[in-house]
Amino acid sequence: MSDILLPAAFENQMIELLGKEEFAAFKKAIDEPSKTSIRLNSAKPIEIDWEKSSIPWSDQGYFLKDRPSFTLDPALHAGAYYVQEASSMFIDHILKSLEIPAGVYLDLAAAPGGKSTLLSSYLGEKGLLVANEVIQSRAQILKENIVKWGLGNTIVTNNDPEHFSPLEGFFDLVLVDAPCSGEGMFRKDPQARSEWSPDHVALCELRQKRIMDQAGALVKAGGCLIYSTCTFNEKENEDMIRFLTDEFSYEPVRITLDPDWKIRETTVNNDGKTFFGYRFFPHLVNGEGFFITILQRSEDAYIQEPKRIKDFKHLYLKEIFDRESAVLDQELGFDGSGKYYTLNDSYFRISKDWSLHFQKLSQHLSLKYFGVELGKKQKSDWIPSHEWALSLLPKVGFAQHELSKTEALDFLRKNELDLADLPIGWVLMTYQDLPLGWVKNLGNRINNYYPKDWRIRM
Ligand code: SAM
Repeated sequence: MSDILLPAAFENQMIELLGKEEFAAFKKAIDEPSKTSIRLNSAKPIEIDWEKSSIPWSDQGYFLKDRPSFTLDPALHAGAYYVQEASSMFIDHILKSLEIPAGVYLDLAAAPGGKSTLLSSYLGEKGLLVANEVIQSRAQILKENIVKWGLGNTIVTNNDPEHFSPLEGFFDLVLVDAPCSGEGMFRKDPQARSEWSPDHVALCELRQKRIMDQAGALVKAGGCLIYSTCTFNEKENEDMIRFLTDEFSYEPVRITLDPDWKIRETTVNNDGKTFFGYRFFPHLVNGEGFFITILQRSEDAYIQEPKRIKDFKHLYLKEIFDRESAVLDQELGFDGSGKYYTLNDSYFRISKDWSLHFQKLSQHLSLKYFGVELGKKQKSDWIPSHEWALSLLPKVGFAQHELSKTEALDFLRKNELDLADLPIGWVLMTYQDLPLGWVKNLGNRINNYYPKDWRIRM
């Protein structure tokens, strides 16, 4: 139980929302320990020994009976799963139950990457995701999580929502998991209680309006806008639906719910239509506090298709043309479905299907990462990148070596390695058959290429 008291104004607000009796149950629930949950990466299957139970709205999500030391599990570092609070995984149910078409998606407030990794899995090879984060240090963490997830269908950018204005009508889906007053985090992070005040709620509301004023325009005709917060108050939730539907032309979307989930539907009447929102209360739902809504852009809105750029120019990026691409495909054992670029002498691959979209995006946004970085070429030798190791792309011609858990942790800590029968040259280190990174065996010494900044310090 937390000794940080709930602010009186917050209690009054919740009593207004729930009534006195239900508020008592709410108050009790937020002093109970929160549940640990993970979402598996279906592209990187592993055996999980932990006692677990399914999260009903996400087929890859599981509650764990106990909280293990995730840092000391090499499978986490291989990108086999993401530790994510259960309510957030409801996006999986939205996408799958509504059969939302794949395409070009934007996660506008993406760090550390929980919802981006979910979107990336949903899209697979059928789509492109732009995962954006405005704060630079957080964009770096976002990049790490995207690299670990490994699907190669994501561009990580570091931009203010305002920078997206040339991309009006460009996206099939825009998700804004908005920065908010965090009332739903009072259990998981009791410190959030002392940061809460009515003024802070008002400030968050203003910031959300600024963000949504941009985000609402980015969705193409017929596309979807998902807005979510981890807070309960109406100002940051229902009022934002009102704001969006005042500013832009959107249609309501209703989600099917299983009554056993105890997710509460709320409605907003505006412009002669009824819009829907979904609230997750911790005394009812197995998860933290959350709010989410989905809207569909009217069919008469604008659609911006990327045009072929005849002579693609970029300050840092260099396009690789067909003849050199064919050589790369052959050298790397790739199937020819990728388009290559170089950035600071390092090669990157992105699906050809999205190359035009990528070029358009690269002209307006600050790129942190895209597709899969392959590494550098020195004469005919590759210096393979860590990003390539963690990606799903084949690593033809490289030896592999399966590590025990102790060896894997030594590798991830960048400790000295003593591995018998290791071939000479580059060797891909794996754990449960999942790549963790590279070493180079020089015969008399093994060089560990695990990124210094990522190493386990525990
Ligand atoms: N979607 C993320 C996930 O699932 O891992 C969590 C996002 S968090 C709730 C909100 C994010 O919005 C933070 O990373 C924060 O840095 C970012 N943010 C803060 N101010 C912002 C602004 N003015 N515009 C856009 N994003 C902002």
